[in-house]
Amino acid sequence: MTTDTQAETLGFQTEAKQLLHLMIHSLYSNKEIFLRELISNASDAADKLRFEALSNGDLLADDAELQVRVDFDSDNKTISISDNGIGMTREEVISNLGTIAKSGTAQFLESLTGDQKKDSQLIGQFGVGFYSAFIVADEVEVLTRKAGTGPTEATLWKSKGESEYTVEAAEKADRGTTVTLHLKQDEADFADGFRLRSIVKRYADHLSIPVLMEKHDFGSPKDGEGEDESAEAKAPEYEAVNAAKALWTRSRSDVTDDEYKEFYKHISHDFDDPMDWSHNKVEGKLEYTSLLYIPGRAPFDLWNRDAARGLKLYVQRVFIMDDAEQFLPLYLRFMKGVVDSNDISLNVSREILQKDPAVDSMRSALTKRALDMLAKLRKKDKEKYQEFWNQFGQVLKEGPAEDYANREKIAQLLQFATTKSEVDAQDQGLDDYIARMQPEQEKIYYLVAESLKAARNNPHLEIFKKKGIEVILMVDRIDEWLMGHLNEYEGKQFQDISRGELDLGKLEDQDEKKQQEESEKALEGLAERIKKTLGERVNEVRITHRLTDSPACLAIDEHAMGAQMRKIMQASGQAVPEVKPHFEINPLHPLIERMDKEQNEEMFEDLVEILFGQASLADSGQLDDPGGFSARLNKVLLQVG
Ligand code: ADP
Repeated sequence: MTTDTQAETLGFQTEAKQLLHLMIHSLYSNKEIFLRELISNASDAADKLRFEALSNGDLLADDAELQVRVDFDSDNKTISISDNGIGMTREEVISNLGTIAKSGTAQFLESLTGDQKKDSQLIGQFGVGFYSAFIVADEVEVLTRKAGTGPTEATLWKSKGESEYTVEAAEKADRGTTVTLHLKQDEADFADGFRLRSIVKRYADHLSIPVLMEKHDFGSPKDGEGEDESAEAKAPEYEAVNAAKALWTRSRSDVTDDEYKEFYKHISHDFDDPMDWSHNKVEGKLEYTSLLYIPGRAPFDLWNRDAARGLKLYVQRVFIMDDAEQFLPLYLRFMKGVVDSNDISLNVSREILQKDPAVDSMRSALTKRALDMLAKLRKKDKEKYQEFWNQFGQVLKEGPAEDYANREKIAQLLQFATTKSEVDAQDQGLDDYIARMQPEQEKIYYLVAESLKAARNNPHLEIFKKKGIEVILMVDRIDEWLMGHLNEYEGKQFQDISRGELDLGKLEDQDEKKQQEESEKALEGLAERIKKTLGERVNEVRITHRLTDSPACLAIDEHAMGAQMRKIMQASGQAVPEVKPHFEINPLHPLIERMDKEQNEEMFEDLVEILFGQASLADSGQLDDPGGFSARLNKVLLQVG
């Protein structure tokens, strides 16, 4: 403990220090955003106080008009942003301004390249915030007094944005926070009324809180030039620079695209524009307004289970909480936005929200709204949708498992690579696939593999290529899981082509079928011989017609766990159920014909092991005994010629 009046010097947390450095060095091309960030924080502080005041009216005391003030002093080159919001205690100052609480920050910072241009893109994913003050200032002071505490209980925080800061006890007449920036020598022209006004107007017009600036009077004489005594004594007059009407309460036709974009940046702390948005007022049994945004880019912590997510919740225009996750399912966690309800009680808590039936109805309506917005985007702008997909597609794929009721709607939004996509991109939807299906085709065929390359060369594709039937190629870690929850789409069943016996339904040719039956009979003996060699490692050895070029492949049963899931479970240290594959051989392949004639048992065994090894590699990229496989292969190769 230090005595309260003493200034205490503290070091920034390592991550905070790195972020500060990054901020100062990568955002030089967009310096003015510091005002947006500081005003945004001030507005949040007012929101928080208004919320606290719902249960403790004394907090507002005689200062109930919440507002933000922007002052400047061009002689001393300072700008200050003051609010009469919630304020901070000394402990809060230290933890809010000296550390970064977001989990995953360290890993995020490690991913930076040192390339300023690239890193400045990444910082947007992280969110900019308070430290942006140091883009233009070489010293920042924060004087703050928590609502409900006395004038002598304030705290002064100061830093030059290097490795340390000081905190000391201070006095402050009013509640709230004043952030004062001592501008860098070459940023001094920010301390200019005209310039500040235009920036503030742009960044604050969508906020519900008034942002005040001193009334300017361009005609007034300069210091000392015949100024009269009374003018000098007069307190400055302030006026609101912004419209101060919460953006979502305005009607859609009154809000410009730029305003929507700015508001997005305020609520998301994102540096970039959103991809799209949907603003709706719902009237009837439930009354609420929602404004949902699709971000332009995935945040750095999209895959962190504990990351904040959800919408900003307001009740009758009073801010209630950030990150209200009850209003959207987990697979839509990338959505940002605001929901303002007239049906929820003002003194609601997260626990109450979970049980409120009104919240349930809003959640399902908002989910539909979000899915519709994505469907519309997909229709309207394929390229943009592709960008969306590249950023968030994997998250959306969690949908069918989480939200069974909407699985058809979600399935319509999925994108895949197929054997007919020209480039290696997930750019085909299920509707595109269905439109190209062959007249007799009844099922949607797909294949799960490690990579697109592995998929394209998978032996299971051979018969489909020969017959010109399109197959969806799935290579994301989540795909097998996804397909476990999608049985059909538009009345068409999904069929994993590596499972069960080949069944092409009406696509099968009757003459071919007869021939096949004959060859199956002829090779029954061979199948038995092979089974003897492979023993318990395989389920059945059977003759297949799915191959045209390869001699053999592995197939698993309809409901067995596939290679991808097995790998994921193995990697996470879980017990993996044993799956015995069927070993399938191609009766028309010369190697199979040769094996059938092979009299030398040792040679026969080597050939079986080599074919089984190859089939395992094509299936999962793995061998049980790679050394043994190579030894046999070399032995056989030595006998060539
Ligand atoms: P973010 O706003 O994304 O949380 P910031 O770096 O901008 O990150 O701010 C860190 C924290 O400091 C805020 O979450 C808030 O708790 C606190 N803070 C910043 N500015 C103010 C302010 N004007 N009044 C009260 N608290 C503030």
